[in-house]
Amino acid sequence: MSETNRQWLLHARPVGMVKESDFELRTSPMPKPGDGQVLVRTRWLAFEPAMRGWMVDRPNYIPPVGIGEVMRGMAVGEVVESNLDGYAPGDRVSGMLGWQEWALGDGALRKLPEGTDPRLALSVLGLTGITAYFGLLEVGQLKEGDVVVISGAAGATGSVAGQIAKRKGCRVVGIAGGAEKCSWLTDKAGFDAAIDYKNEDVGARLSELCPDGIDVFFDNVGGPILDEVLARIARGARVVICGAISRYNEEEAPPGPRNYYRIVAQRARMEGFVVIDFLARAAEAAAELTKWVAEGSIVWEADVQKGFENAPRTLQRLYTGANFGKQLLEL
Ligand code: NAP
Repeated sequence: MSETNRQWLLHARPVGMVKESDFELRTSPMPKPGDGQVLVRTRWLAFEPAMRGWMVDRPNYIPPVGIGEVMRGMAVGEVVESNLDGYAPGDRVSGMLGWQEWALGDGALRKLPEGTDPRLALSVLGLTGITAYFGLLEVGQLKEGDVVVISGAAGATGSVAGQIAKRKGCRVVGIAGGAEKCSWLTDKAGFDAAIDYKNEDVGARLSELCPDGIDVFFDNVGGPILDEVLARIARGARVVICGAISRYNEEEAPPGPRNYYRIVAQRARMEGFVVIDFLARAAEAAAELTKWVAEGSIVWEADVQKGFENAPRTLQRLYTGANFGKQLLEL
């Protein structure tokens, strides 16, 4: 067993686009598990756009990571030593292990069912899939026949949200960056149409594809795309604010949506949510999603980078759209 533990610490609060120099790679002694603890060897790290928000000291739904602390992050690892009933060496677990090669954990770690693909556990069956499920069905109050628009549609959360809406009998339009992601949406993920926001006029294409208005908008992006959708919402529309990645690396808050008054005229509702509030019901979502993946009615992609030293560079990929599917790093 290795004698040392490499860890990525938060070194500086980022200004603008997150940089590698915002982190520091440190080598520490191996941690030793105490009573009620397990020692876990990290195998896979998962990356979330929200990490940029965890790095700054602003009001948020979770306290920021402190300077000098290990960067927070979901991971899958393998139990190597256990002083905790119910956990044995060899068990695969998922949880907030952080950006480190070895971590201590407790009963908050979730044991993965035998044979579960760790990439799936960290994507469709993990936080992003659960976010899509409850965001669309509970917050979005999805109904059969709705016209649904998803931004960030080819990403980990958006692609699952769109496929759930298809399963529920909706017409689904995805918005994503680039021809390759748009082809994947229509050819592989079963979306009815896709708009390439980097090369097409989003407003004009939405008018063409949703002539009677948009019933549900699942927004991962914010900014001008949110504005274009608000201009075209149907009566009683539900605008689900899941995220706003277009602004995560901006220092100044952009001006508010120009078209927000359409919410009044169309008796619509716009509501944000945080997946943490639904975690008590995670098993319900995971059971359905497991079934749909097994049936082949939800397809998924994972973008797997390699090497622990590449963790900061892997995070950056989310904000340039370099990732295709759930952004992961295999150690
Ligand atoms: P993801 O969609 O797999 O990856 C991020 C994608 O965002 C990129 O691939 C890129 O796709 C797009 N993007 C980046 N910069 C953009 C910009 N300026 N304008 C438009 N699109 C941009 O990541 P994810 O983990 O599934 O997260 C998606 C969203 O869900 C994020 O906003 C995240 O914060 C949110 N989220 C919210 C919750 C919650 O509890 N509310 C939980 C999980 C995730 P393109 O190539 O298409 O540009």
